[in-house]
Amino acid sequence: MKKKLFVLSGSSGVGKGTVISGFLKRNPNFSLSISCTTRKMRPGEADGINYFYLTREEFEQSVKNGEFLEWAEFAQNLYGTKRAFVEKCLDNNKDLILELETIGALKVKEQMPEAVLIFIAPPSFEELEQRLRGRHTEDEATIQKRLSEVRAEIERSKNYDYIIVNDEVETAISTLEKIIKDEAKNV
Ligand code: 5GP
Repeated sequence: MKKKLFVLSGSSGVGKGTVISGFLKRNPNFSLSISCTTRKMRPGEADGINYFYLTREEFEQSVKNGEFLEWAEFAQNLYGTKRAFVEKCLDNNKDLILELETIGALKVKEQMPEAVLIFIAPPSFEELEQRLRGRHTEDEATIQKRLSEVRAEIERSKNYDYIIVNDEVETAISTLEKIIKDEAKNV
């Protein structure tokens, strides 16, 4: 039996990582796809665990070879999902979640209309702005850039199958579980 593919997106600062890791803890049969990226490895990350880290040349060669199911540029780095990785997981009956920014997610939907797209949204734009500012890690220009990216992502989420508003993490995780369980029944 082939499995269904779930694609999750959410703007930065929305708590998407917490919702996904909460879901994965409760549902160990699901795994998160490992993407390729040209961005630098962050402390605590490992090659082949968080991402496959490629040089821009290696990434572009894979694009030319048609190896990516989707890829996109985000914050000046390239990110992509290898087609072979996803197909192998689905064929091996593994439940798979892809965590992608919205352009890549919509590209997956074009190629695999049966994929389920889920967007994790902030309770409000104002609250997200407060959360981003509350981190105190970025200057005003960076915050403004992030906020305009967030606006664009929220706009694209109108084409998603589901939107989960992350008011409260536990509720968001339960909602995600319900959506995935219901959808998985209709394979
Ligand atoms: P980060 O650099 O913080 O790990 O990820 C930045 C953004 O890239 C996040 O929105 C994440 O969802 C997205 N992303 C991660 N992997 C992929 C991928 O394979 N394809 C696309 N399109 N986006 C990705």
